[in-house]
Amino acid sequence: MRWSKALIPTHKEDPSAAETTSHKLMLRSGCIRKLTSGVYNYLPLGRRALLKVEQIVREEMDAVGCQEILMPVLCPSELWRETGRWDVYGKELWRVRDRNSREFALGPTHEEVVTDIVRNEVRSYRELPFTVYQIQTKFRDELRPRFGVVRSREFLMKDAYSFHRDDESLDETYRDICDAYTRIFERCSLTFRPVEAATGAIGGSHSHEFMVLSDTGESEIIVCECGYAATDERAEGAVDPPPCDEAPGEMERVETPEMRTIEQVSEFLGIDPGKLVKTIIYEADGRPVAALVRGDREISEAKLSMALGADLIVPAPPDVIEKLTGAPVGFTGPVGLEGIDVIADHTVEPLVNVVVGGNAQDVHLKNVKPGRDFKVTAFHDIVLVRKGDRCARCGAELDSFRGIEVSQAFKLGTKYSSSMNATYLDEDGVAKPFIMGCYGLGVSRTVAAIIEQHNDKDGITWPLSVAPFAVEILVVSMKSEECTTLADRLYTDLKAAGVDVLYDDRDDSAGVKFKDADLVGMPLRVTIGARGLKSGVVEARVRKTGEVTELPVDDAVQGILRILETLP
Ligand code: ATP
Ligand code: MG
Repeated sequence: MRWSKALIPTHKEDPSAAETTSHKLMLRSGCIRKLTSGVYNYLPLGRRALLKVEQIVREEMDAVGCQEILMPVLCPSELWRETGRWDVYGKELWRVRDRNSREFALGPTHEEVVTDIVRNEVRSYRELPFTVYQIQTKFRDELRPRFGVVRSREFLMKDAYSFHRDDESLDETYRDICDAYTRIFERCSLTFRPVEAATGAIGGSHSHEFMVLSDTGESEIIVCECGYAATDERAEGAVDPPPCDEAPGEMERVETPEMRTIEQVSEFLGIDPGKLVKTIIYEADGRPVAALVRGDREISEAKLSMALGADLIVPAPPDVIEKLTGAPVGFTGPVGLEGIDVIADHTVEPLVNVVVGGNAQDVHLKNVKPGRDFKVTAFHDIVLVRKGDRCARCGAELDSFRGIEVSQAFKLGTKYSSSMNATYLDEDGVAKPFIMGCYGLGVSRTVAAIIEQHNDKDGITWPLSVAPFAVEILVVSMKSEECTTLADRLYTDLKAAGVDVLYDDRDDSAGVKFKDADLVGMPLRVTIGARGLKSGVVEARVRKTGEVTELPVDDAVQGILRILETLP
């Protein structure tokens, strides 16, 4: 591509609205332009990188026997009602109507559509197992679109779905696809880690996320030296209990005027937050429940939803809380709470003499003892584990780091096939629901994650495997005919040799061109200048390392090919 004819609008300055390195660099290098909140245009460089990642994904999915299909963006609401997700998915689901007021979703994920295909087309156990996938635009009306294409409202995803007779077959495909993911992210030169994950709104029994390590990541990952790794919302850990050698006192009412938060109450009463128990009312699939953790800890809503077997957990709105407790928000407690389940974290069980909300305005209760002063329906592990807690497997201290979730795999079981009545005839002549897996990979988010890990102060340092172009030819001055003649020839010869080449043939100053070359970050820059030509050489410079090789003009093409072979 000749730069003089290309749409590569670079910017010297960081755009003010961009917070992360990848977002800034994608804008500055002219890869993307924002159309509106969470919606982006891909300009030529961005489009080429996206296609490169897409192709790696396609090759590795095909290599483990998956078949590519393409499903529509427009998904009739009837299918989503069959699984109940029309109601459960909430505001992230983009809903539209046709001219006859028929409702559709703009697909955020395609379990319903693929299950519909399979229930209509697949009859026999003999056709199982198989996996289909697509690479397609997804729509999610995200609450907070941000970081450019990392969290956008329209994005490119690879989503795969597998169908099986039994769990062993699902396990095998799940492993194959996780191995394919490992190869994909290795080919993209990413430093990443698979971690155990919560299943969330998609459901199922078992899930892994692939996390690209990055301080700008929105996910917190808990890791242990023994190899254990999980997202924080899913991680299991041992939370050290405070010493409780006190004799239990008698429950007492205390006035706590306007003291609503844990910090306010603990300061007002002069006690450690760990001696409070906080009570949070949630709605689990619409049914209110009370969840209890120690005052110095947070609840993992993912663990709570797993403990309750609920699809959707949301904090209850204030009017529900007031109706249940008879008190405004901030004074909720478990004592005398009637008619709803009380789920407490295991760490609450041994506590004595704790402070809880009094279910009355400006009132708390002290010297409360779980089990004696209030009933707990069930104790579960619902605490959000953090750095410094101990590993549930080996007891060592847990560490944490941040990551960008680039893909997630789920063992769905029969969640979708059962609700949509998708069955096959088994060997014994009995109709059985398909056992399913699903596997999503964010293609556009992966491009951003690559830049997040491959950059320096001057710009992007693309890995060769996904770079928009492998080589940039830079002519120092377009005024020198000797230089432009050689550059034209090199450009043609390299393209003929199958190399993607960007040719900076703009009539700009050398300074501007060098700065732009660093910013757009092609792996190898070949500089053609009058001074070099005098000694019969062109200069090849590796963007990432700065390593310079002088190549004799006559051997330039071969020399460039040799250097490219050494680049990741
Ligand atoms: P997140 O927790 O980041 O919202 P998710 O769990 O909703 O992600 P999945 O439903 O598992 O994501 O989707 C599969 C993949 O699609 C994710 O791993 C991610 O790479 C990508 N993805 C999801 N939401 C977005 C988005 N809003 N913008 C870009 N990529 C996304
Ligand atoms: Mg999401």
